[in-house]
Amino acid sequence: MAQQPIVILGAGHAGFQLAASLRQHGFEGAIALIGDEAVLPYQRPPLSKDYLDGKIGFDLLLMRPEAFYRDHRIDTLTGTRVSEIDRAGKTVRLASGERLGYGHLVLATGARNRVPALPGIDLDGVCYLRNLAETHELRDRLAAADRIVVIGAGFIGLEFAAVARGKGKHVHIVELTDRVMSRVVSVPTSHFFAEAHRRTGVEFGFGAQAVRIAGHNGQVDHVELAGGERLPADLVLVSIGVVPNGELAAAAGLEVANGIIVNEELLTADVNISAIGDCAAFPCVHAEGHPTRLEAVQNAADHARCVADRIVGKPRPYAALPWFWSEQGPLRLQIAGLTTGHDQAVPRGDVESGEFSVFCYRGGTLLGVESINRPADHAHARRLLAAGRQVTPSEAADPSFDLRAAATARPS
Ligand SMILES: Cc1cc2nc3c(=O)[nH]c(=O)nc-3n(C[C@H](O)[C@H](O)[C@H](O)COP(=O)(O)OP(=O)(O)OC[C@H]3O[C@@H](n4cnc5c(N)ncnc54)[C@H](O)[C@@H]3O)c2cc1C
Repeated sequence: MAQQPIVILGAGHAGFQLAASLRQHGFEGAIALIGDEAVLPYQRPPLSKDYLDGKIGFDLLLMRPEAFYRDHRIDTLTGTRVSEIDRAGKTVRLASGERLGYGHLVLATGARNRVPALPGIDLDGVCYLRNLAETHELRDRLAAADRIVVIGAGFIGLEFAAVARGKGKHVHIVELTDRVMSRVVSVPTSHFFAEAHRRTGVEFGFGAQAVRIAGHNGQVDHVELAGGERLPADLVLVSIGVVPNGELAAAAGLEVANGIIVNEELLTADVNISAIGDCAAFPCVHAEGHPTRLEAVQNAADHARCVADRIVGKPRPYAALPWFWSEQGPLRLQIAGLTTGHDQAVPRGDVESGEFSVFCYRGGTLLGVESINRPADHAHARRLLAAGRQVTPSEAADPSFDLRAAATARPS
C-alpha cells in the first residue's frame, strides 16, 4: 500500500497531521488533502480563546504556511467539498462532479454544530463557534453586542463567556443540567469553574431549558425558558455540542453510530478506508475497549500518527492516553485520562487557592486527573496513566506524597 495515492477527506487537525506525518516518515506517494473550508489548515482551539479575543492574528492560527504544502508535495484542495465515496471504484466525487482516485482513503471529517430545533433558531444574531467563518461573524457581532445569552455551559460556551465578560458584555448562560461541563468533569471542578465565572459577573441558569428564541424585525430579541422567563439578548451563542460528520461514510455502507466505526488500528470495515479524529468511534483501551469518540486535538493528532505508521508499514494498535485542555480567562484546565463514570473525586491541593487537581476513581482505580492551574500535576498524571500506574486516593489527597516520583518510578 505504501506508494498508493492517499486521499485525506477533511483538512482539520487530524487531516493535516496525517499528511505531515506521512511525509515525515518518508512516504513518497501522492497525498491529496481535501477540505471544504476556504483556507489552509488552521488550529481550532484559539477560535474560542485568543483569536476571538483579538490577541492573535490569523498567521498564528495556520498549522503551516503555504510553502510547507508545496515543499512536501501535499496537494491541498481548499474550499472543496466531497459529496460521495465510491468504494468499488476507489474514488471520491467532489462537489464539482470531478472524481479523484485513492489507494487509501482517510476520513477526517470532524464534527459540526448541534443545532436545536427551537423556534427562532434562524434569527439574525444566533451564532455558533466551530470554524473560522463562524468565529469572524461572532467576533464582529460581539463587538456590537450588549446582552448575550449562551445556550450550553460546555467548554466552548464557557470559553466564549470568559472572552465576552472580558469585553464588559452582560453574559447569561442557560444550562439544561445542574452544573457546568457536566458531561466531562467532576463535581468539584464544575463548582469551582461556575464560581470563578460568577465572580467575573457571568450569570447562570441551571436546569434551565431554552424553548424559543424570539425576535424583533428578524433580529434576536430574547430567549424564552421553559418556565416562561425571558432573557433579553442581542446575541445568542448556541453551544450545545456537536454531531460527527459520518453521512458520507454511512452512504457508502460503512457502519456509523455516534461516529464512524473503526477497529483498534482505526480501519473501517473496508481495508481501504480509515477514519480519524472527531468523526471516528474507536475501541479505546482507556475506556475498557468501548467504542469511544473524542473531541480533542490530542486525539486527532495521535490518531493521525497511528494511521501514518500503518500506511508506511508499521501497523500498531491505537493506545494513546487521551488528554485535553481548556482555557477560561486566567484558568487553565487540563485533563489526563477519561474520567467519565468515576465514583470518587479526590482533590489534591487547596481548591480555594485556584491551583488544585481532582483525582477521579472508579472502584478504587484511577481513571483520570483534572488539573486547574497545576501543569506539573497534569504532566505527572499523564505519565502515571500512560504507564498504567496507580496512586491511591489517600496518596492523592496527601500533599506530601511525591507525585513526580510515583510518575517516574521504574517498573519493579
Ligand atoms: C472553538 C473550539 C475550541 C476548541 N478548543 C479545544 C481545546 O482547547 N483543546 C482541545 O484539545 N480541543 C479543542 N477543540 C476540539 C478540537 O479542535 C477538535 O477535537 C479537532 O479540531 C478535531 O480535529 P478533526 O481533524 O477531527 O476535525 P476538524 O478540525 O473539525 O476538521 C474537519 C474538517 O473536515 C471538513 N469537512 C467535513 N466534511 C467534509 C466534506 N464532505 N468535504 C470536505 N471537507 C469536509 C470540515 O469542514 C473541517 O474543516 C476545540 C474545538 C473548537 C471548535
